[in-house]
Amino acid sequence: MFAIDLATLAGAHRDEVDRQMTVCNACRYCEGLCAVFPAMELRKTFAAGDLDYLANLCHNCGACYYDCQYAPPHEFGINVPVALADLREDTYAEYAWPRAVAPLFRVNGLFIALALVLAVAVFVAGFALMADSGALFRSGTEPGAFYRVMPHNTMVVLFGGAFLFAILSISVSVRRFWRAAGPMPVTVPSLWRAAKDAGSLRYLGGGGMGCNNTSERPDNRRRLYHHLTFYGFLLCLASTTTGTIFHYLLDWSAPYPWWTPVKIFGVLGGIGLVIGPLGLMREKVQRAEVISTGNKGLGAAFLWVLILLGGTGLLLTALRSTPVMGLLLAVHLGVVFAFFVTMPYGKFVHGLYRFAALMRHAHEHVAAHGKMPEPLKQPLPKTVTS
Ligand code: SF4
Ligand code: SF4
Repeated sequence: MFAIDLATLAGAHRDEVDRQMTVCNACRYCEGLCAVFPAMELRKTFAAGDLDYLANLCHNCGACYYDCQYAPPHEFGINVPVALADLREDTYAEYAWPRAVAPLFRVNGLFIALALVLAVAVFVAGFALMADSGALFRSGTEPGAFYRVMPHNTMVVLFGGAFLFAILSISVSVRRFWRAAGPMPVTVPSLWRAAKDAGSLRYLGGGGMGCNNTSERPDNRRRLYHHLTFYGFLLCLASTTTGTIFHYLLDWSAPYPWWTPVKIFGVLGGIGLVIGPLGLMREKVQRAEVISTGNKGLGAAFLWVLILLGGTGLLLTALRSTPVMGLLLAVHLGVVFAFFVTMPYGKFVHGLYRFAALMRHAHEHVAAHGKMPEPLKQPLPKTVTS
């Protein structure tokens, strides 16, 4: 039932993007704003994979809505940010693997994530109580204290399994997304260019002046919060990686002192994962109604899971010398598990699809023009800038 409805919805959203891109391709007024318009101009017609590619190339800055002379109330009713955002959300389910479970997450993403957090936290707490009734309510700062709650090898099996499933599932999804827009080699220059564009969020700037999130007046708040989220996540990943190296190569068990890279990366990353997603939520709430697609669905579920991930990690670090350490560890592990399981079906994949789209854009731009895309130089006047 859900699968049929989502397929119909995706079809309707593709038809609308196809219509709007056909108008834009004749107009081309916005070609300096971002990568979407130059990529669109390389096509005369749009297959489904092309439309999905363009949707994921869009960073939803809103600039092309405010620059558009055909926006509502004009009869053409052009609203590219909303049309591409609607289709982009469809692509997360469309290319997911296994595809059959994706609609469940689309409809109940936040509920499933919170239920998983609770279930795994209760499981870990019960596991600890059965093994050692005092372990859950004992403080612990010495090496190996976390493994009184759950032995290291059990954690590796449980969470390593969930992580490997997420990696497999996401790899299949990205491959499907990549192939849908047609065969194209992955080259080092396009990979490098995509890494630079993604790392700097180059196309979240609406042609250079910032994001038109709340009005015709651009600003860079969305880009800042997005950076905090992205680099906060990378720092948490660096913390986990260095922790694994400490454990296996240095025979040094968690928890670690504050001066170790594991802790420094983890605390800085946790702060980014709390402030960034909270800021992005605020920006979503304040987004101008004409370009808003609401503050619910996969995006909201993903942001809440990130906030819980960063928040419980920071609390665990701050309170590990108190008797709530065991309970906090159980909740944090529940959040980590929920994050791994929901990763392939939620907004997490948007980063990878966007990276793949940026890579395709760099490659086809070189093939068509003999050079990489030019830096954006604020090519068009805004309708209102003050
Ligand atoms: S968004 Fe409007 S102004 Fe911009 S290219 Fe499309 S039709 Fe033209
Ligand atoms: S990135 Fe901005 S300018 Fe480009 S299509 Fe998306 S909303 Fe429009």
